Amino acid sequence: MNTRFHVPTKVFGARRSRGERTEGDAGTPSAPPASFSGSDPVLIDPMLDDNPGKSSSYLLPGSRTTLIDPGSANAAPRILEALKSRRIKVDLILLTHIHPDAAAGAGVIADQFPGAEIAAPAGSTERLADPAALVSDMQKVYGDRVERIYGLPAPIDARRITPLEDGDKVDLGERPVEAIATPGHTEAHMSFFDPSSSSLFCGDALGVQLPGSSVVRPSTPPWDFSLPDSLDSIDKLEQIGAENVFLAHYGAARSGPDGIFSQASDALERWHQSFLKKKEQTDSEEDLSRQFNACLEATLEPIAPSVRRDLEAVSPTWLNLAGLNAEQARISGQLSDAA
Ligand SMILES: [Zn+2]
Repeated sequence: MNTRFHVPTKVFGARRSRGERTEGDAGTPSAPPASFSGSDPVLIDPMLDDNPGKSSSYLLPGSRTTLIDPGSANAAPRILEALKSRRIKVDLILLTHIHPDAAAGAGVIADQFPGAEIAAPAGSTERLADPAALVSDMQKVYGDRVERIYGLPAPIDARRITPLEDGDKVDLGERPVEAIATPGHTEAHMSFFDPSSSSLFCGDALGVQLPGSSVVRPSTPPWDFSLPDSLDSIDKLEQIGAENVFLAHYGAARSGPDGIFSQASDALERWHQSFLKKKEQTDSEEDLSRQFNACLEATLEPIAPSVRRDLEAVSPTWLNLAGLNAEQARISGQLSDAA
């Protein structure tokens, strides 16, 4: 069995002008194909909105070819096409978490690789096998837009799914990868550390950092974001001492392994404190959104308008606010329960 495969580092597909296109157009003939770059890991970019640099899946070569976070259901046709054209067979799909942009495509891709196993954080696997509750939660957050933006997840045979606990070793053939529980962004969230390449795959645990800027935007979505868990997870990831840090959005951390963790926790704490302070004064969504964006701007680095737009597309202000409001509601619910 092959242990390595080579892919060109060129980014395929012409850049298109920005428009109203969404992931729902992924399968249309005019949509650019997914791009592959690097060799270990291979970064697969499904070219969301027909542009590169927003979302990444990772392929680990080896005797068990592994795909980390296959992405949304709408992006799956592009990823499948790209895998097929390179004759790559996936043996294992690893999920950091089951948010729709990371995992809604898992069932579609698993269908095309019937021998592949799926491993996901314990606590999320039932929803992969029977996604009705997941779809309902997605609709509560995104309304009718969910299908257009992400597509709906297909169920996966429960016998193919392995729940992962903190510290589990995932067998990738000649190299075991360690699963590290990193709750916060969502409760059932795992990161994966590959000691053979000293690479850490963090999913959304550190936030969002996109090409063209080193600014880290916190990602605090519903339904179960937790600030203390997030900060503990960032600290835990930093202790690993990985030489390479890979984000779901997008690629290798631009601030490198020395800068990304403190940047992530600083940005999160700054935004959270600022949210709580503003929340004491107002419930206005508009005021809170303005505060969020002011926090983003309060870095030393100027942010190009195109990057700001992409950050907003990948991790929208309204979604981050909804997650923080949900956390506050949960905390006050617990306080009143305890009283
Ligand atoms: Zn997520």
